[in-house]
Amino acid sequence: MQQITRRTFLKAASAGALGLALDLRRLGPAQAAGAGVLPATSPPRAVDYGDWRDVYREKWTWDAVVRSSHWVNCWYQAHCCWNVYVKDGMVWREEQAADYPQVRPEVPDFNPRGCQKGACYSERMYDPARVRHTLKRVGPRGSGKFKRISWDQALDEIADSVIDTIVEEGTDRVIWDLGPGISIGTQTAGQARLRVLLDSTALDMNTEIGDGHRGCAETFGKIVFERSGDDYFFSDLILCWGSNPAYTQIPNFHFLTEARYNGAKIFCITPDYSATAVHADAWIPVKPGGDAALALGAARIVIEEGWMDRKFVAEQTDLPLLVRDDTNRFLRASDLSDGGDEETLYLYDKKKGIVEAGRRSLDLGEISPVLEGRFEVTLAGGQKVTVRTVLSRLRELLEDYTPEKAAEKSGTPAAQIRLLAERMAHARAACMVTTSNFSKYYHGNLIERAQALLFALTG
Ligand code: SF4
Repeated sequence: MQQITRRTFLKAASAGALGLALDLRRLGPAQAAGAGVLPATSPPRAVDYGDWRDVYREKWTWDAVVRSSHWVNCWYQAHCCWNVYVKDGMVWREEQAADYPQVRPEVPDFNPRGCQKGACYSERMYDPARVRHTLKRVGPRGSGKFKRISWDQALDEIADSVIDTIVEEGTDRVIWDLGPGISIGTQTAGQARLRVLLDSTALDMNTEIGDGHRGCAETFGKIVFERSGDDYFFSDLILCWGSNPAYTQIPNFHFLTEARYNGAKIFCITPDYSATAVHADAWIPVKPGGDAALALGAARIVIEEGWMDRKFVAEQTDLPLLVRDDTNRFLRASDLSDGGDEETLYLYDKKKGIVEAGRRSLDLGEISPVLEGRFEVTLAGGQKVTVRTVLSRLRELLEDYTPEKAAEKSGTPAAQIRLLAERMAHARAACMVTTSNFSKYYHGNLIERAQALLFALTG
């Protein structure tokens, strides 16, 4: 049995007293004392404590339990459903609601959604450091000197500045710098409307904070790919490439581990053996920033081994399009005839030779594009030039990414580059856990494009 000495007893007793004091901080009398909390919507009730047990009983009573969520930039898994315990107009406790219905019997449900940041969100709401009043800077920038002003004064001064700027310099000199907090929810609507009415300029928040996924924008034309979190369950190969969803996508992470019971393999491709790597079937180490070389090395293996999904590549990618050798530009209608447009591009059909690539649909119809080859075409002025498919040019580029060379550049062993290529090529429904990681790198767009190439080649 543990020996209790006078010294340990005193230590435990003082710790207990501290714990009680911390709890009392949240009870009515402490709130009335205004210890840095928001004003209650109703006056706090007077609590008549009989003895110490009443303190404990009072702690577990509420005026209401209401549904709520969090207005933060969780991005990939926002708006988890919580029960919020309210007393005297204040949130005192949060609890995961965990009553999402099961949508499909064969797919795990979403319960419970939440994360540790959400579990203590009320601390953030009532933190004394939170800005709760309109403040005006009265010292040099960075000095931290502010004075409190009224809302009327703040709105008047902002409106005056906007009007002065428009009158003296023009509407495009009014710049909105949004920040991540503004990106979610209905508050954006009114602000966006005002921006449009003023004909003013808004900075791209995602680009500013490095969440922009420029490589995805360049490849696919958009940066966000909508799907439900439980979609991971249908994948048979999940790449956590540059991501650590065990820490950063907490509400959805269980779908990844549950997908393993549905036959999925998880590959974690990161420099560090992360919390996600612990749950993965394979950890593929890569040097920071070496991801593009890894992707290109795997892409080369896919092509060389004949593992490419040729039907997908022919229909869904630009790899069969023809590119002029002399200018390195796509062959365009304007090259072939006077008055031809700049938008029409070309494929090489096995039977008909050079044909227009469809612009209204990806459906190839009767066209059967040659994926690789060099051809001669006659330009509008009679000059003859050679053209090659994008895939032919890509194969040449990838000569610099043999497994050994790619291993040197990426820091990933050649055998693991091959493992990635082989699994990607044979996966039925590979997917990647999205991150806002590579978009923060200089030339990170090229990493994302190399990853997209690997997905495109393997369908
Ligand atoms: S991810 Fe966390 S902070 Fe975001 S809504 Fe869910 S519980 Fe709240």
